[in-house]
Formats: sequence, C-alpha cells, structure tokens
Amino acid sequence: MKPARFALARPRDLETALSLLAEAGEAGKIMAGGQSLGPMLNLRLVEPELVIDIAGIEELRRFGHEGDRLVIGACITHADIEDGRVPDIGDGVLARVASGIAYRAVRNRGTLGGSLAHADPAADWLTTLMALDAMVEVASKAARRRVPLGSFVTGALATALEPGELITALHVPAIAKGARFGFVKHCRKVGEFAHAMSAVVIDPERDRLRAVTGAIDAPPLVIEDAHALLGKTRSSGSVRRFDPGIVDAAFQTAGIEDAVDRHVHATVLRRAIENAWPVMPDRSRRQAA
Ligand SMILES: Cc1cc2nc3c(=O)[nH]c(=O)nc-3n(C[C@H](O)[C@H](O)[C@H](O)COP(=O)(O)OP(=O)(O)OC[C@H]3O[C@@H](n4cnc5c(N)ncnc54)[C@H](O)[C@@H]3O)c2cc1C
Repeated sequence: MKPARFALARPRDLETALSLLAEAGEAGKIMAGGQSLGPMLNLRLVEPELVIDIAGIEELRRFGHEGDRLVIGACITHADIEDGRVPDIGDGVLARVASGIAYRAVRNRGTLGGSLAHADPAADWLTTLMALDAMVEVASKAARRRVPLGSFVTGALATALEPGELITALHVPAIAKGARFGFVKHCRKVGEFAHAMSAVVIDPERDRLRAVTGAIDAPPLVIEDAHALLGKTRSSGSVRRFDPGIVDAAFQTAGIEDAVDRHVHATVLRRAIENAWPVMPDRSRRQAA
C-alpha cells in the first residue's frame, strides 16, 4: 500500500523544526529514521499532512558528557552506537545492545529518539535505557524539559510527549565502578523483534540490583530492588540463587496471564542476571581523566 499524500519539510535546525511542528499541530508528524514511521504511513495507520524530517539537524546528532552523564542526541543511529562513533557508558554496553537491533539496514537509519518516541514495548533501547535509569530531554517551541524514561513511557506505543514536543537527547548516567550489566533478548530468528527481553544492572558496592523486563504488552516492567528474586542472601555469589516462584508472582501481578509466557520471561531474566558482565568505564573517559 502507498501512503496518503503529505508535504515533506527538511529543516536544518531545531528551532525551525519546532516552529513547523507547532504550526502543523495534529496534522504534523516527525520523521527521524523512518524505520517505523515508513510502514505506518504505507499502511495508512497515520495520515499526516506534513512530515517533518529531522534527520539532517546537526544539533540532534550531538553527543558528549555532562558531569557523570552521557548525553546522546535523538538522531544518533543504532549503527553510530554499534560502530563506536559515540562514546559508550562502559566497555561495549550500548554497542552490544545496538548490534542486536533488527538488521544492519534498519540500524543504519533507525535512531535512538525514534525508538523511544515509538515506544514499542519490545524495543531494545526501551528496556536497556530503563535499566540504566536514563532521562529523556524534550523540547517544544515554548520550553525544554527532562523526563525520567520510566515516566516518559505511559503505555504500549504511548509516551508523555505533548503536542508540539520532540525528543532532543537522552541522558544516560555513568555506570558505577564495579557494576555489572546483563542483557538478554529472545527472538525466533536474528533481526526479529524479541518475544522476551531483560536488562539488569548489578552494583555490589551499593547493594543494588535493578532488573527490567521488556517485550510484554505494557511498558517494560521495572523491578527496582530485584534482590528479592534471589532469595534472602545478598552476597554477590547469590546471583545463581534465582527464585522462579517469586519472579512468576511478580509477572502475574504485572498482568502477564499466560504461564508459558511468564516462564519464558523468567528464564530470560535469570540469564540476564547470570550473564551480567563487569563493566569497565568507557575508554574515552579514562583517557580524558
Ligand atoms: C524490520 C524491522 C525490524 C526491527 N527490529 C527491531 C528490533 O529488533 N528491536 C528494536 O528495538 N527495534 C526494531 N525495529 C525498529 C527500529 O529500531 C526503528 O529504528 C525505531 O523503532 C524507530 O526509529 P526511527 O528513527 O526509524 O523512527 P521513525 O520511524 O522515523 O519514527 C517513529 C516514531 O517516532 C516519532 N519520532 C521519531 N523521532 C522523534 C523524535 N526525536 N521526537 C519525537 N518523536 C519522534 C515519529 O513521529 C514516529 O511516530 C525494527 C524495525 C524494522 C523495520
């Protein structure tokens, strides 16, 4: 199927994009990589009068460090991260996630901002960046604001973006010294969206274990203190004492009704905890220090 007719604007700066978006109101739609919007236009699930292509806005491709946070522009692509053109928060954490998204052709165009704005519960960045406690930077013609990713995603394919707003950047806190990161996704074949996915951050120094399970029919499920899943002992060796009963109950409370689905999600979460690897600080930061 072909999209309904629309006008296309290719602003070169953020202010122009925000003015166009404000003027267009409901009739305007942002396009970044087009990897999700393209099919939606073709299927006429959306029929905007104006598509505002933001891929050429340099400001949205910026990156760098602000204090202990890595700031990544919304139009940075999955491939930019996979190839190391932007710094990582630790040896290969973000690059590893990026390299598992779809196929290279999709990764070449698909962006971080587009993925979060689309808010597909099975999107790799949603689960990963929630585990990493990231913050979304949003701008409209009138104001800028920052929203924790946990509150930014309000449902499956739903976000807290107001009319006239777009995502400008993501703020990802540095991973703590001595922390470990684990990420496992389960799909029928490489390049497919996941059927189950978990990301965990284990910080033995602060006695923290944050776990996030994605690819459910709702925003990813965040378990702030996942130690309970491991039984009573909190020593670092306890990661292998995973209690499937507690996890099953947590998933049931979260509304995952099918017992097989809960089993698959629990297995993937256990593997993410078991596979968590120690994270060294990013090399570019070590050199700068
Ligand atoms: C075959 C295929 C397989 C895929 N597999 C996976 C997968 O395994 N894992 C995964 O995570 N993803 C997967 N994806 C999705 C892919 O990662 C897309 O890149 C992503 O969902 C959308 O990013 P985009 O930049 O292309 O956004 P677009 O398609 O341009 O836009 C998507 C939506 O976000 C809005 N938008 C875009 N940028 C902004 C912004 N800065 N601010 C506000 N709104 C914005 C648009 O208006 C639109 O509603 C797959 C896609 C395809 C086509």
